[in-house]
Amino acid sequence: MIFKETHQSSESYARTGILSTKGKEVETPVFMPVGTQATIKSLSTEDINELGYNLILANTYHLYLRPGIEVLDHFSGAKNFMGYEGLMLTDSGGYQMFSLSSLFKFEQDGVKFQSHIDGSHHKFTPEKVLDIQNSIGSDIWMVLDDCAPFDSDAKRIRESLERTHRWAKQSIEYREKMNADSHVFGISQGSMDLAARKISLEYIQSLPFSGIAVGGLSVGEPRNLFYQVLEHLAPFHDPKRPRYLMGVGTVPDILEGVKNGIDMFDCVLPTRNARNAQVFTRKGRLNLRNEIHKLSDKPIDEECNCKVCKNYSVGYLRHLHKSKEILALSLSTYHNLHFMKDFMEMLRNSIKLGEFNVFYNKWKNLYKTLN
Ligand SMILES: [Zn+2]
Repeated sequence: MIFKETHQSSESYARTGILSTKGKEVETPVFMPVGTQATIKSLSTEDINELGYNLILANTYHLYLRPGIEVLDHFSGAKNFMGYEGLMLTDSGGYQMFSLSSLFKFEQDGVKFQSHIDGSHHKFTPEKVLDIQNSIGSDIWMVLDDCAPFDSDAKRIRESLERTHRWAKQSIEYREKMNADSHVFGISQGSMDLAARKISLEYIQSLPFSGIAVGGLSVGEPRNLFYQVLEHLAPFHDPKRPRYLMGVGTVPDILEGVKNGIDMFDCVLPTRNARNAQVFTRKGRLNLRNEIHKLSDKPIDEECNCKVCKNYSVGYLRHLHKSKEILALSLSTYHNLHFMKDFMEMLRNSIKLGEFNVFYNKWKNLYKTLN
């Protein structure tokens, strides 16, 4: 993987760049939509292509449990399975294991857990999650890490760093022996402890990963603590590698991340909120179920060029959401992902033009409330 920084803001750590691998290019900062089960909920693969997303995320934990390795291997991976030709990043499954499975237990060489679907017993090791991602056929793999809760005490944070770093080293060693053409990103941890955060980032950056992720943020902690960690880490990022802020991707959080040097984001909220009738516009958020939209013949966003805004009124979309029609989900999701694509392009342009601070203030103000 080649990462090339193209512009560096003089006012902050914001930068633009180009990620290239396997003949495909991705401009950064980039937002990656989440396709947990090898589908972006309610959208077809043609929709994803039409929207112009050539880097999406899928979840290792979910795909390992269902459809499972046998099916993934049979169909030569998740991309082939869903007919998607762009790039795919997969997480390691660690976070889902901690948050979804009914039981998990650390062992020296990995984690034991029970499936949230049928209660069956499984074990993930640093090596096994790379093997699974190889079966998924994704282009960017994440290593297994230990994401300590944001309110962890010093002992738990030490334990998380020791495990995360040991597993990161093991992952790099194992990856070198594998016959695969994918790239591996390391993950730094450290909870809300600023000193631990810096130690972890520097350790992960000392290993030959293709990219460096910041994990364990936006996991329920107060926003000011989350932003404090981003600010603290900003001067220590490696300029030569892409930086990925895992599980983060709302408008205000992207602004904060970019300001502090982050290049890659992913988040379920733009798609999940769309399914709950919340859409994004250039004037802020809009709730499609609201009574005031009952007779509105306007599009969601008058400046949006998406097919939903071209063809449907807010009044009609409100009716679809109120009647719980399936079409409401796909149309709203399509618009929100189109908006996120436009938003990231406007953001990159603001950096290139040296106007990121103006852009930051304008959008922070439009999207004041969380999520
Ligand atoms: Zn639209």
